[in-house]
Amino acid sequence: MTARAPLPVVRDTDALRRTVADWRAAGLTVGLVPTMGALHDGHLSLVRLALARADRVVASLFINPTQFGPREDFAAYPRAEAEDAAKLAATGCHLLYAPDAAGMYPAGFSTTVTVEGASRGLCGDRRPGHFQGVATVVAKLLLRAWPDVAVFGEKDYQQLQVIRRLARDLDIPVAIVGGPTVRESDGLALSSRNAYLTADERAIAPMVYRVLTEAVDALAPGHLAAPVLAEGVARLTAAGISEVEYLELRDAETLAPLEVRPADRPARLLVAARLGRTRLIDNVSVPAAAGAG
Ligand code: AMP
Repeated sequence: MTARAPLPVVRDTDALRRTVADWRAAGLTVGLVPTMGALHDGHLSLVRLALARADRVVASLFINPTQFGPREDFAAYPRAEAEDAAKLAATGCHLLYAPDAAGMYPAGFSTTVTVEGASRGLCGDRRPGHFQGVATVVAKLLLRAWPDVAVFGEKDYQQLQVIRRLARDLDIPVAIVGGPTVRESDGLALSSRNAYLTADERAIAPMVYRVLTEAVDALAPGHLAAPVLAEGVARLTAAGISEVEYLELRDAETLAPLEVRPADRPARLLVAARLGRTRLIDNVSVPAAAGAG
């Protein structure tokens, strides 16, 4: 790792705002990359994208308790702040903002942000309250950091669409940028939760992406998607996936359910699957089928 100066870390919102105000006074633009830490190359690719779009980049690290359900992995979620700070410094990030939960949700905290539409179905059904937790904390992070650009991964595609809608609906003056999913060489999408996989499960996990890409090829315009999706679920189950929570074709922007691959607009194929104690999510683009033969 290159010998850069240690990354400045602020935990206090006033200190964050002072730093951002100084940058702005110097005529510099600001990018924000929200994360929950345990950083991998997917997160760092978003930092690089932010560096290409803004003069100064803040990464935030906050494991947001309100987006975890009562039986989910909040307590077990990997925590590695010192390593994260070193990776961010080596990537050229300018500041790590790592607020604590007590300051984020002080006694009396009563406001939540609910994004209708995009939050429905998919992970919204499987993780009640999850997107409300995400939307509320992202709204707070945007209002605290007040960036020109905020970068989120397409890996969490439904989350990205929820955040785009949130910024538009609440008139938050920020450009929301989506970054492509970074994958292992066998196709598995990088995720902090991949650390939970046993060696046997790790060997099965790339099937999730394989089934997605093969299903896109098999989705013929004008034909019902259901048989292709059923075949994909069957293949995942046969490969050893414990449970396929969903494998669905949706409109790429509104996330409205689709029965047929559209000819004239992009769609998205999204999956959530359980492999042992790990929940894997992934998605791929389904380009407009016009001219696809
Ligand atoms: P997380 O720390 O899991 O909340 O993720 C923080 C940000 O990194 C989110 O915008 C994610 O969508 C994004 N992200 C997670 N995994 C990847 C990946 N493999 N490639 C690109 N972005 C990712």
